[in-house]
Amino acid sequence: MNRVNRAPVDVDLALVGGGGAASLVLAALDRHGVRDLRVAVVDPVHKRGQDRTWAFWDRPGNDLDPVLSASWRQVEVVTAQRRRVLDLAPLRYAMLRSGPVYDRAAAAERRLGVRRIVAAADALDDDGERVLVRADGSAVLRASWVLDSRPRPPRRPGRTNWLQHFRGWWLASDTPVFDADRAVLMDFRTPQPARGVSFGYVLPVSDRYALVEYTEFSPARLTDAGYDAALAGYRDLLGLDPVRLVVREVEDGVIPMTDAPFDAHPSPRVVRLGTAGGATRPSTGFTFSAMRRQAEQVARALAAGRPPVPAPAYPRRHLWMDAVALRALDRGGVSGPEFFDRLFDRNPAERVLRFLDGATSPAEELAVMSSTRLSPMVAATAGDAADRLRARLVRGRRSR
Ligand SMILES: Cc1cc2nc3c(=O)[nH]c(=O)nc-3n(C[C@H](O)[C@H](O)[C@H](O)COP(=O)(O)OP(=O)(O)OC[C@H]3O[C@@H](n4cnc5c(N)ncnc54)[C@H](O)[C@@H]3O)c2cc1C
Repeated sequence: MNRVNRAPVDVDLALVGGGGAASLVLAALDRHGVRDLRVAVVDPVHKRGQDRTWAFWDRPGNDLDPVLSASWRQVEVVTAQRRRVLDLAPLRYAMLRSGPVYDRAAAAERRLGVRRIVAAADALDDDGERVLVRADGSAVLRASWVLDSRPRPPRRPGRTNWLQHFRGWWLASDTPVFDADRAVLMDFRTPQPARGVSFGYVLPVSDRYALVEYTEFSPARLTDAGYDAALAGYRDLLGLDPVRLVVREVEDGVIPMTDAPFDAHPSPRVVRLGTAGGATRPSTGFTFSAMRRQAEQVARALAAGRPPVPAPAYPRRHLWMDAVALRALDRGGVSGPEFFDRLFDRNPAERVLRFLDGATSPAEELAVMSSTRLSPMVAATAGDAADRLRARLVRGRRSR
């Protein structure tokens, strides 16, 4: 669309950023039959094809079933000491490639008559009634509501600022080498970094084709060669013969793992979604389920004529528990493999997964928390409380 020197177009809803979060919103609007809304998407890129693979858990029997690449009722958590097989019923672990998600969003866009603006939004001026969306220096839209999912840093740095960073290979084998009935959720037999946690995982689509990844939760990324070496090491650990394998695709990613605050509602008519809106769970990096939950809430609200403001991605007490867990892992009080091993040892897998979705009761949360070793957690809780108090005092002094 040619936007030069045109008056801004009036819309009811502007999606600023058209990646994962926005694609799920578009599909949800379509599913909810929201037809009478003027919607626009602003993004310098029109996302298509396979640029990422989402793994998440949910209950089978929903709108994603037809587009999943694979799903598993059982997953493994592996440490040097044991291989734990977890039955996830009534949940499943699922794999969804980005291609079908973007295709679905594109089909929804056509049905909803969405206006696409291929440009980088640089300012959102919210006067409380309308938001003027500026892109490449000119005002392109005047929107009643904006859902903003452009990547952006948190409001201020966290007390712990880790990254989940990874590389994956889509491996094709000429002989059956993968167990297609089970995914490996976390395999902690990888060499552990000096500061942080590492693990490998395997998401098989068939007995000859799988996504094999090396992941770290740690403060900084590796070099290219570092990821390749780590992944080759994990491939060898799995007993896979490189001669019989072809790397069909490579997938890289970096996801924030931090207790830093993300502003989900920075001004009256701007709502942030996706990673920028705090949908990434600090202790795991999982984001997809929260984005999906919020997309559903946004679509329901709009279908009912209400403002598209979803509930926070996670309850506050969960963010606090994650801050404590991250701190304990970062300050070396707890080893990552031990932390996750105990979590799955002392709780049904389904409870842990619901906990990570922020869907457990306080009693269940107590059970989850008390499955970790007590003393480092108490130390991390005290440290976290002291840091919060210190930050509050500093802010108080500055505002005087
Ligand atoms: C490789 C990879 C694998 C992942 N795997 C998982 C997983 O298995 N499970 C899970 O739960 N989470 C996963 N995540 C995390 C998370 O689910 C994804 O990052 C997800 O895509 C986040 O959605 P988003 O909309 O917040 O950001 P994105 O999907 O990155 O979308 C942001 C959009 O904003 C656009 N944009 C940028 N600047 C501007 C601008 N100025 N104006 C307008 N638009 C702009 C970009 O072009 C992009 O389209 C993964 C992330 C990556 C990178």
